[in-house]
Amino acid sequence: MTDRPLGFDTLAIHAGAKPDPATGARQVPIYQTTAYVFRDADHAARLFNLQEVGYIYSRLTNPTVAALGDRVAALEGGAGAVCCSSGHAAQLMALFPLMQPGCNIVAATRLYGGTIQQFSNTIRKFGWSAKFVDFDDEAAIRAAIDDNTRAIFCETIANPGGVVSDLAMLGKLAADVGLPLIVDNTTASPWLCRPIDFGATLVVHSATKYLTGNGTVTGGIVVDSGKFDWSASGKFPSLAAPEPAYHGLNFHAALGPMAFTFHSIAVGLRDLGMTMNPQGAHYTLMGIETLGLRMARHVQNAKTVAEWLEADPRVEGVTWAGLKSSPYHGVAGRIVPKGAGALFTVAVKGGYEACVKLVDSLTLFSHVANLGDTRSLIIHPASTTHRQLDEAAQVRAGAAPNVVRISIGIEDAADIIADLDQALAKATA
Ligand SMILES: *Cc1c(COP(=O)(O)O)cnc(C)c1O
Repeated sequence: MTDRPLGFDTLAIHAGAKPDPATGARQVPIYQTTAYVFRDADHAARLFNLQEVGYIYSRLTNPTVAALGDRVAALEGGAGAVCCSSGHAAQLMALFPLMQPGCNIVAATRLYGGTIQQFSNTIRKFGWSAKFVDFDDEAAIRAAIDDNTRAIFCETIANPGGVVSDLAMLGKLAADVGLPLIVDNTTASPWLCRPIDFGATLVVHSATKYLTGNGTVTGGIVVDSGKFDWSASGKFPSLAAPEPAYHGLNFHAALGPMAFTFHSIAVGLRDLGMTMNPQGAHYTLMGIETLGLRMARHVQNAKTVAEWLEADPRVEGVTWAGLKSSPYHGVAGRIVPKGAGALFTVAVKGGYEACVKLVDSLTLFSHVANLGDTRSLIIHPASTTHRQLDEAAQVRAGAAPNVVRISIGIEDAADIIADLDQALAKATA
């Protein structure tokens, strides 16, 4: 190979994966093992001291899982990655090294419903909290940041409405205030957007969605840019001061750009145990091989279907940010120029009742709480994913009672449209 940087589709197939040194196996084997034999006592001690990188125990590291982490780090342009048992686990793992009791994050109001829950209630049990702010409003974000803020959190393409975050603005803001920007890139995938290019420090993924791509895995990944100076502010003692949880090691001093990744494995996975299993990593590795092909088709189909829906008199509105009518059309052109994803909401004439009827009348679409599948999927957020929120919060989150969320698959666009057409007829009869 030459020194020229490899293209996305090449990395999607080759990054992180070498022929197996023991057998020559071309595909990454599923290393279904719990533990790894140490060469001798000195080798074991060196591994535990992080003086040598190697495998100890699969709660911490596993070769199949490591191949996936390396591949996603390469695709996102990061220094390192840690794989986790789910997207939600990845979010906690992203926050864990940054936070102490009493610290907060400033997060966008428009997020995956489960994330709003996790940040509103569950993280309070750790003494952390979240302030939710409209991320279109730069002044409001700045006003919400205080001395105890440790991160800024948003989604590239916000679930469920498909709103595109202005990562260029947010990256500059984060640099200006000296805080890490954490971007959930699940709904864009690195093929549509690489948040690190806009200044993100951490990128989190639910690998459950487009990375695996066919609804077979629950998994998550945190990618670290390796660029944030954890030592500059004194705000990140787990990373940039002697860490009592790891015999006083200063991770940033010892490991530089790999501080976050090593802390996440050596302390985060060790003590929180939210580890990805090698079977799941294998499926996700296979899914990523076709990520570029799939995403191109997802966004092409999304455009065809969104334009058809927008022109239909039974429909009140379509939020796909690639539409010229979208207030996010301009941002989308800068942040996700290849396409504004394949996830959006549709407001149906007839409100809540019509939405429920639409969902029940579709035959090609699956009614599921998932997105980013080869199959087209639909859900009514107000009665499912966002039902824990009150109506005002549903509206703020883009999940008003009169909208359905659709995740456009890679079937023939004509078949997707035909299914929507017959179901809209029934829903609005
Ligand atoms: C699904 C999803 C999550 C949570 O991921 P899980 O793998 O289900 O835990 C987080 N963020 C976004 C944007 C998602 O779509």
